[in-house]
Amino acid sequence: MGDVVVIGGGIAGIQTALDLANHGIVVHLIEREPSIGGHMAQLDKTFPTNDCSMCILSPKMVEIARHPNIRLYTLSEVESIEGEVGNFTVTIKKHPRYIDETLCNGCGDCIQICPVEVYNRFDAGVGVRKAIYKPQPQPVPDIVIKDPDHCIECKLCYDVCGPDAIREKQEETTIKISAASIVIATGYTIFDACRKVQFGYLTLPDVITSLELERMINASGPTGGKIRRLSNGEIPRSVVFIQCVGSRDMSIDRPYCSGVCCMQAIKNAMLIKEKYPDTDVTICYIDIRAYGKGYEEYWERAKELGVKFLRGLPSNVIADNSGMIIQVENTEKGEVHVLHPDLVVLSIGMGPAVNTESIAARLGIPLEKSGFIQPLNDAVETVATIKPGIYVAGTATAPRDIPDSVSQGGSAAMRAFIDAIRTRSV
Ligand SMILES: Cc1cc2nc3c(=O)[nH]c(=O)nc-3n(C[C@H](O)[C@H](O)[C@H](O)COP(=O)(O)OP(=O)(O)OC[C@H]3O[C@@H](n4cnc5c(N)ncnc54)[C@H](O)[C@@H]3O)c2cc1C
Repeated sequence: MGDVVVIGGGIAGIQTALDLANHGIVVHLIEREPSIGGHMAQLDKTFPTNDCSMCILSPKMVEIARHPNIRLYTLSEVESIEGEVGNFTVTIKKHPRYIDETLCNGCGDCIQICPVEVYNRFDAGVGVRKAIYKPQPQPVPDIVIKDPDHCIECKLCYDVCGPDAIREKQEETTIKISAASIVIATGYTIFDACRKVQFGYLTLPDVITSLELERMINASGPTGGKIRRLSNGEIPRSVVFIQCVGSRDMSIDRPYCSGVCCMQAIKNAMLIKEKYPDTDVTICYIDIRAYGKGYEEYWERAKELGVKFLRGLPSNVIADNSGMIIQVENTEKGEVHVLHPDLVVLSIGMGPAVNTESIAARLGIPLEKSGFIQPLNDAVETVATIKPGIYVAGTATAPRDIPDSVSQGGSAAMRAFIDAIRTRSV
């Protein structure tokens, strides 16, 4: 009793768990993926500081693994929740990893010998992984997972595994946790760019998403940090970013702004310019939303570096024998520009995490029309929900950036802390 359950191990959930654990509360952190880290682990640098994302995230992830007050459950999802504030029973289902988590030492010998290569979801489609693999370059826990859908059971990995940790079969397990309160930090999912067919995603090889670009720019990503055209492996001489793909778009019932796309495009445009000063980089936008501390100055820096800003959104990307063509009206000048990019980056918006609906139904809390979780009050109760003892943090309620997600994690921790302490003193 007096414990707290945190659902989701992205930066918001990590911050919530650490703040609580550092104040003596036992936290059960439930993450459905094989590693914690969430989307921040996929990013190269982070605006507005241009810190290396993993350099600031990884110490927090490691602290989660080592903290005596934190119990981490990966590959786990909430099955049911019963009770009320001060006395919840949370039942979770832990999916098999086909690895004995207590034996694997993360040496990676099994990965080296595995002959199977498959699409790597973490590298957002621009890389491959083995059938036995680490889910990201610096995972927590730092152990492997075997993918039963692609493993051919050649058993080579069994032979090289010193601690004998690999399992052919493993059962799903059910765990019951008692908790005083619950924090939902289930984050977001990226917009499926295929829904905007006119931009040619997955039909034109040199049209990629902003998350794929993040992985390409990253030194530990699939191209070792080099920006490449997927059609011919060459460095692009011209890159065009198309903003608001899946945001502020009534035609697909996504009227809201995703909040981070302007800033992430400015960041990545600058990173391209720093790596390849001769590459022409243009951002096509509706308006630039640089609302946070230091964000306006960040935008100014991009202009000084030579990034071009063209106010206007193209309606499509066309391909012919000469390459890709984008026609866009510059709404500042009333002129039509014709661009011939080597690479097009779609700045994709953010939507509610997969299964948000079922989590909310299990908890008995309402969703917004957009599908994000509804907080008690958007002005003054941004981390509370209609259910006492159930809080929400980060992008689970709306698109937001890392600084805001971290602040929300801290506030949700404070509210959950009060419930935990009250429960202890009863
Ligand atoms: C291309 C791109 C670039 C960006 N660049 C920046 C940047 O430079 N600076 C910046 O400030 N922001 C940036 N952002 C935004 C940033 O990614 C988010 O602000 C941040 O990741 C939000 O963290 P979160 O913890 O709320 O969500 P997430 O990172 O989505 O984490 C949620 C976690 O919950 C887990 N989860 C989901 N559902 C369940 C469930 N049912 N049960 C258990 N676990 C679950 C997920 O697996 C995940 O680990 C960028 C976003 C994009 C798309």
